[in-house]
Amino acid sequence: MSFNHIFDHVVLGAGVAGLAIAKALQEKGRSVCLIDTRDIAAGASGTPLGLINPATGRYGTKVWGAKECLNAVTKDLEEIQEKSPTPFFKNTGILRPAQDKEMAERMHENVHKYNWPEGWCEWLDLEKVQEINPNIHCVDGAMWLPKGLTVNVEAYLKAKTRVLESRGLKVKTGKSYHIETGQKTTVLKFEDGTEIEALSLIFTSGHETSDSKFWDFLPLHPIKGQVATFESPEADRFDYSLSALGYIASISNSRFVAGSTYEHHFEDIEPDEDGLNYLKERLGGVYPALFKNAATVAQWAGVRASTPNRKPFVGRHPEIDNFYVFTGLGSKGLMYSVYMAEILSDHILNASALPKEISVGRI
Ligand SMILES: Cc1cc2nc3c(=O)[nH]c(=O)nc-3n(C[C@H](O)[C@H](O)[C@H](O)COP(=O)(O)OP(=O)(O)OC[C@H]3O[C@@H](n4cnc5c(N)ncnc54)[C@H](O)[C@@H]3O)c2cc1C
Repeated sequence: MSFNHIFDHVVLGAGVAGLAIAKALQEKGRSVCLIDTRDIAAGASGTPLGLINPATGRYGTKVWGAKECLNAVTKDLEEIQEKSPTPFFKNTGILRPAQDKEMAERMHENVHKYNWPEGWCEWLDLEKVQEINPNIHCVDGAMWLPKGLTVNVEAYLKAKTRVLESRGLKVKTGKSYHIETGQKTTVLKFEDGTEIEALSLIFTSGHETSDSKFWDFLPLHPIKGQVATFESPEADRFDYSLSALGYIASISNSRFVAGSTYEHHFEDIEPDEDGLNYLKERLGGVYPALFKNAATVAQWAGVRASTPNRKPFVGRHPEIDNFYVFTGLGSKGLMYSVYMAEILSDHILNASALPKEISVGRI
């Protein structure tokens, strides 16, 4: 494929962040080219199922910008789903069963402490949880988040790419390039001889963003996670997703997905036997009957980027005016992607101020 004109914006990385900013800029009338050295959803966003969970951490703290983030991503999912024949998300709700007394106390506190929007978060006592499913291990009760969603992220991003391409987005995948900065524009020179010129570059390359010499000062911490799909007769007993020591999500009557991000030191990014055993042991403790006699169908591993305050880096390069970044989405990639892309696109086009918690200027 060859391109012969200058794009307003070239986006580098086709995960949830890249597709969200590409769409936000396209909707504001800009020409956009999306580039991925591998493929759409080839990074952390390739996770077999992801949760959109407005509560985070061990104790269910309310996520930054929860209302705006959830509303924005839900609207986007609905819009893309309308144009795609294959279902890729479900309004499953998310149950967070406490696994010990401290978790129960702190989560129960958090149900009341935060100003949750009406109908977003409630505490279920033990009796209620057992009524819902007596096979789930739970101490004293659970947090219930009925607005939570479960998403086949890869299918969502592939459908989103098709929709954006039909509106004029250019996409180039599977080729490496090098960047030549100029006075007014930047040129990307590809190994296949293609050259792409852009007025601005937006770096959305996940944990690899700081491999670029332009962003090597970003304190991104890579964490590897492993996910497996299992087949189990118990899977048809629940149609909500569970978040406790990792996550368990239901995808069909007979299959479920279990995942956790936990490896702070790792040598490769492949799934392995240790990861599978870790998931079975850790999440098997949350829902023993589900894992008993479960057959492994597939395994996957990915690396997400965490930041010191666990919020993304969004904004302009401190020295290069037409370079921007959107990375470090941590465990909340789906939740953050669409709303933060709106904030960033407004910043790029109108120089609007960025919230300090997410601004790259906070370093
Ligand atoms: C095991 C696991 C489970 C998770 N579960 C959830 C969940 O339930 N809910 C949730 O919201 N989040 C979850 N996350 C986190 C979520 O996946 C990430 O926050 C999100 O995918 C990050 O998106 P991204 O677009 O920033 O990066 P990525 O998805 O990693 O995308 C980066 C892209 O950039 C490309 N790339 C790399 N270098 C270059 C380059 N130089 N030029 C061009 N392209 C490049 C890569 O090929 C890749 O496609 C999970 C993560 C893991 C690992």
